[in-house]
Amino acid sequence: MKPFNIYLIMLSILLMCSCTTSSQDHKKISTTQQAVKPTVRIYIQPFTDLPASYLTYISNEFQKTFKKVIINPRVNLPVRSYYPARSRYRADSLLSFLGRQTNDGCHTIGLTTKDISTTKGKNIDWGVMGLGNCPGKACVASSFRLKGKNPMEKLYKVAIHELGHTEGLPHCLVQTCFMRDAEGQDNTDQETGFCAACKHRLIQAGWTFN
Ligand SMILES: [Zn+2]
Ligand SMILES: [Zn+2]
Repeated sequence: MKPFNIYLIMLSILLMCSCTTSSQDHKKISTTQQAVKPTVRIYIQPFTDLPASYLTYISNEFQKTFKKVIINPRVNLPVRSYYPARSRYRADSLLSFLGRQTNDGCHTIGLTTKDISTTKGKNIDWGVMGLGNCPGKACVASSFRLKGKNPMEKLYKVAIHELGHTEGLPHCLVQTCFMRDAEGQDNTDQETGFCAACKHRLIQAGWTFN
């Protein structure tokens, strides 16, 4: 046999071996990926109007609850999200803004004291306490409609509710669960945490609790 033919045979064997090895490795990696989901990262995005006391309180609460919480530097509310006819910010526009700065597998919660709104049925501009993509990367919470005692605690509870929606959690019938349907009311005083079922769904999706 000519040396060139021997070279070709050797090369073919080598290529076959390397393909076999790489496909086995690939199988190993994908099995590991299925077993261990990467930890979900939560980004808190304060808008410039949010008082420092609110940011400190809410960041602490999130960091007590979840392992991976990152606090972004403050940013201005985007001008294009402002709805001058009602002096409000459009929540869906804020979600687009926050979503663009959020990587896959991460979730961002925007926090503001300004009034926010969305379209609800026949109401073109309906004021809300919060809004989240369900599922998606971004959500926003506003303290504007939260009255009474403990406004910082209330804003935290609205924020964590909207964050749950970003993982695809629907509303929950448990009255003490963060995911209960607000039905236009502020029921946050009755909420004590995620119920066992909602928490289980988040853990299954890679959320790590402290
Ligand atoms: Zn909701
Ligand atoms: Zn629940």
